Amino acid sequence: MQRLALFDLDDTLIDRRHALEATLTRFASRHGLTPDERDALLVRLDDRACVADFSAIRERHGLSASAQALWREYLADMAASSVCPADVLDGLDDLTRHGWRIGIATNGSADIQRAKLEATGIAHRVHAVCVSADLGLRKPDPRLFATAVELCGAAPHDGGWMVGDDPVKDIAGGRSAGLATLWIGAPDRWPGDLAAPDRTAPTALSAIRLLLEHTA
Ligand SMILES: [Mg+2]
Repeated sequence: MQRLALFDLDDTLIDRRHALEATLTRFASRHGLTPDERDALLVRLDDRACVADFSAIRERHGLSASAQALWREYLADMAASSVCPADVLDGLDDLTRHGWRIGIATNGSADIQRAKLEATGIAHRVHAVCVSADLGLRKPDPRLFATAVELCGAAPHDGGWMVGDDPVKDIAGGRSAGLATLWIGAPDRWPGDLAAPDRTAPTALSAIRLLLEHTA
């Protein structure tokens, strides 16, 4: 199998939940929202956010700023609040040093996903970035993974790994694209009704170490 690893971004390489909480706390304070209203936004934007959400939020809370301005504010705050741990960044460098091709396969809006990749220092450590909004396809669609493999300059039928935290989008999706799968999670939390991943690791760093061992 070729040395190729695709990584999910949110809640795999970065803690999106933490960034979202920080961003919405700032948003609520800036626009005079109550703690309950902030919590409702947390639920609304828990899975993903796009500019249309901010049209609805603007209307609901009678905000004067345009939806585009609110979206840009959200985007800047999410990028600034997103962190990839230094040892994970070092791990990505180690993979490259050992001849691995690395791609990002992520669902989301292109502007926000790319802003987070730049702000965290991940962007210049990977060979390719594949964002669902650019393609009009979302994980678990196998075509998104196939595109990421191609953008990495890897052979389409020589395997590789998909690493991510979502059992369906990342693991079932990666498998359907012919990739070996590495789930980030606790083994006892794996949903029993789904086929198990090839490997499991508790964190992105331990996942990277597994990959490095795999080719040692
Ligand atoms: Mg994820």
